[in-house]
Amino acid sequence: MNHLSDRINNLSTSATLAMAAKARELKNQGKDVIGLSLGEPDFNTPDFVKDAAITAINENYNSYTPVDGYADLKQAIITKFKRDNNLNYDPSQILVSTGAKQSLANIAAVMLNEGDEVILPCPYWVSYSDIVKLNGGVPVEVTTDISTDFKMTPQQLENAITPKTKMLWYSSPCNPSGSIYSEKELRGIAEVLEKYPNIYVVSDEIYEHINYVGGHFGMAQIQSMYDRTITVNGVSKAFAMTGWRIGYIGAPDWIARACNKMQGQVTSGANCIAQRAVITALNEPPSRVQYMIDEFKNRRELILGLLKDIPGFKANNPEGAFYVFPDISYYFGKTIAGKQIKNASDFAMLLLEEALVATVTGEAFGNPNCIRISYAASEEQIREAAQRIKTLLSYGL
Ligand code: PMP
Ligand code: GLU
Repeated sequence: MNHLSDRINNLSTSATLAMAAKARELKNQGKDVIGLSLGEPDFNTPDFVKDAAITAINENYNSYTPVDGYADLKQAIITKFKRDNNLNYDPSQILVSTGAKQSLANIAAVMLNEGDEVILPCPYWVSYSDIVKLNGGVPVEVTTDISTDFKMTPQQLENAITPKTKMLWYSSPCNPSGSIYSEKELRGIAEVLEKYPNIYVVSDEIYEHINYVGGHFGMAQIQSMYDRTITVNGVSKAFAMTGWRIGYIGAPDWIARACNKMQGQVTSGANCIAQRAVITALNEPPSRVQYMIDEFKNRRELILGLLKDIPGFKANNPEGAFYVFPDISYYFGKTIAGKQIKNASDFAMLLLEEALVATVTGEAFGNPNCIRISYAASEEQIREAAQRIKTLLSYGL
């Protein structure tokens, strides 16, 4: 008998984490799996950040931290918002959390009532829809495709708005498509939202620095949207600090206060050592981590070139983040290596089982025609993965 709550029974397992776990399991069985499923930089955390953590340990930073984060970390975040985004925040508007994932979970908990609709342009980051549902919200998916570079148009937004719309959540640069909304595109979206003053926006900018075209712009930079935009950011991606678990928000103070109350009952302040290290990371100019961005850019060129050689892969040209999101629907209805491919999940499973390449099905991101491939992997792994996929698909058909 299932004694679990309806809440948890209705929650899906994170597809990115599930695929990574499956790949790890196969690896433990001695299989030579290439993991292109998890969005995780394969670099080490930079030494200057690690040194700050070691110093913090030696200085006995070991007590509970303020729920909203150390005051000097909040100051570093304020300085970063001013330096990189020309945004002005007061300490009361900043909240540090255990990863941007917790920032998002806090926001959903404090903003959503049962039945409130949250517009999610598809493809969206895997956890948005379940975090929204867990908090009684109703995800409203807006389908986009490669023709608009997987970006929602103002008209599509307007069509999706109902009296129940409470929020819009999106990431730019986008996980999984790598698309970046330009200032002009965001102003177009904001123009629609100006007609609906009760709609709030989550602008997830965790890939801000992983941008190959330059010119990051955030929704909160539009004056009319500042008071109803929650900017989510963190250090996992740009500083290769996924396991350190630090994310943060810049938000209207009443929202930050509510998140503080929520977090104070659930987890308290984020890890003390990680917070000290992040002060050092954020106080440095982003150019300190440019070597990683340059390397991701090289890998992007490499993987796009290799995918062009694989029949049936239709990829967009990602401008940021470290994912490609090719449409592979060409293979639906075909039988490969004795396996019938009905959808993107079957296809991702085929790649894992027959080519030992782990990717993630697009279904998890609200797009059933695509798969997500992370190129946060070595050049050698990327080449080998593309070769295995190509061999499997040409042999299988
Ligand atoms: N938002 C997006 C778009 C992401 O890809 C991720 C991936 N980790 C997160 C939020 C959560 O990041 P964190 O590691 O800070 O929890
Ligand atoms: N954000 C990463 C991804 O999309 C990490 C996995 C996760 O947190 O779900 O792969």
